[in-house]
Amino acid sequence: MNSNSMGRRSSIWPRLIIALIIAGFSLITYFSQNEFNPVTQEKQHISLSTKDEIALGLQAAPAMEAQHGGESANPADQELVDKVGKRLVATTAAASTPYKFKFTVLADDKTINAFALPGGPVYITSALLHKLDTEGQVAAVLGHEIGHVVARHSAEHLAKQKLTQGLSGAAGIAMYDPENPSSRNNAAIAAMVGSLINMKFGRQDELESDRLGVRFVSEAGYDPRGMLGVMKVLSEASKSHTPEFLSTHPDPGNRGAVITKLIAERYPKGVPADLKK
Ligand SMILES: [Zn+2]
Repeated sequence: MNSNSMGRRSSIWPRLIIALIIAGFSLITYFSQNEFNPVTQEKQHISLSTKDEIALGLQAAPAMEAQHGGESANPADQELVDKVGKRLVATTAAASTPYKFKFTVLADDKTINAFALPGGPVYITSALLHKLDTEGQVAAVLGHEIGHVVARHSAEHLAKQKLTQGLSGAAGIAMYDPENPSSRNNAAIAAMVGSLINMKFGRQDELESDRLGVRFVSEAGYDPRGMLGVMKVLSEASKSHTPEFLSTHPDPGNRGAVITKLIAERYPKGVPADLKK
């Protein structure tokens, strides 16, 4: 040991203290941002206001659409999805939220998938739509995606991401630059938009969306077993090739079992016969 190395070691302290302050700040920020979600009845850690969520979703929408060939040119498809989506929103707790739902069919006829952006934009690809047999199955797909929006999964994800960035010390974005505050904001928004487009929700989020999907679809007067039909379509499709849907959603076989249980909980005496298939 010589005096040189001692000197180096002591010079680490200021950086370490700064790192600890950033980490502590990130943790405090994350855990102090509590919001109660009246639809899911859960407390969530979220750093975005609903207004920010809506703005962010609208900002990410063009890139999401471009990635799947833009909007479908088939007016009948668009009309159907719009009609089912509007019915799901108007007749469920989704109507009591501030979100601006918009249902769009994407031209992409290769990628079997559906997604939702924060704040309300919901998408289904032509490839998935054309595999569905009934209106109830369309409702099942849209109901699940509406679930992601009202449960604010993207916003939760972004709050966690921000925490991770803060903790890993790569949080330059989170630090205030007094010389140029607006550039920091733009960079942060660009980073958020980028991560939204390829966002993968966790298993718990998917389960929650399936639960909300069963609830919304049933409240809107659709037979929730349409969700089982969708699971069948997805597992059929996965035999020939892996649909994109499977890279962003859990295995349809496992989900089917859970959905069957959720439906039985909702209708212990059996699903009423008058629900729309
Ligand atoms: Zn999902």
